[in-house]
Amino acid sequence: MQQIIHGAFFPDIYFVVQRQGEGGEYVFELKTRSKSAVCPCCGTESNYKHSYQNRIVRDLPIFGKPVSLLITQAKYFCNNEECTVRIFTERNGLVSEYSQFTERCREYMLKVATHVSCEAAVKILAYQGIRVCGDTLLNMIKAAGAEYKITPGKKIGVDDWAYRKGQAYGTIICDLETHEIVEVLKGRDGETFEKWLSGHPDINVVSRDRASAYASAVNKVLPEAIQIADRFHITKNLLDALNDTMKAFMPEVVEVPIDEAKPPEAAEQTVKKTQKRKNVMSHN
Ligand SMILES: [Zn+2]
Repeated sequence: MQQIIHGAFFPDIYFVVQRQGEGGEYVFELKTRSKSAVCPCCGTESNYKHSYQNRIVRDLPIFGKPVSLLITQAKYFCNNEECTVRIFTERNGLVSEYSQFTERCREYMLKVATHVSCEAAVKILAYQGIRVCGDTLLNMIKAAGAEYKITPGKKIGVDDWAYRKGQAYGTIICDLETHEIVEVLKGRDGETFEKWLSGHPDINVVSRDRASAYASAVNKVLPEAIQIADRFHITKNLLDALNDTMKAFMPEVVEVPIDEAKPPEAAEQTVKKTQKRKNVMSHN
């Protein structure tokens, strides 16, 4: 057991020792040495201890190895008779009441998860020594919605996206000028988008796909806004239309007359090229 210098890493109320972890994991035991605490409900200070509570939380990794904290927190009675809280757990600034992660770890994971997809974030974080599943990251993003809320500009892009392909879909809204995600909504039927638009009357340009759900939401709430089809969908629609047209006009088999004057090898190559082209067409 080894006492470590902890002032810079852990709150002063804890006596910190490093424990042996498994598989290179770092484990720190944090024991409270507080003599009093302030009730989070009424703000009254109490020195009347009730009991202790143990919990395990995960912290930022060290040298790519996972870090776990075994925290012993004190519970106090609130002495204020007018307070609705009788017993409370001391606050430590390190971890919120029910979280499995320290606040600094949660903030770091959120930063990663909001820059890439949750599934990619799971892999990146695992390389760094933070084990977390995609669903937990999604719940964190939802819970932190207000904290990370970004005010959109006047030009937005909207599209649907899959929580689970073929099963659950949502609506994603981006600021077209900053390229930041400003909101993620449930469903893609336009209902939640319509409600969201009602709270943002300054928007004057909406880039969207060709689906009618988002178009009718904009028509209804912001009829003055300019609606434009986004580049991705225009290009995709153009390519689909070209493909359909080509298929409609091109016959199933294209006969290429063999030029008698050419040597047999050249004629054979011409037939092969034609055959190859036909295969490509049929694949598309
Ligand atoms: Zn109180």
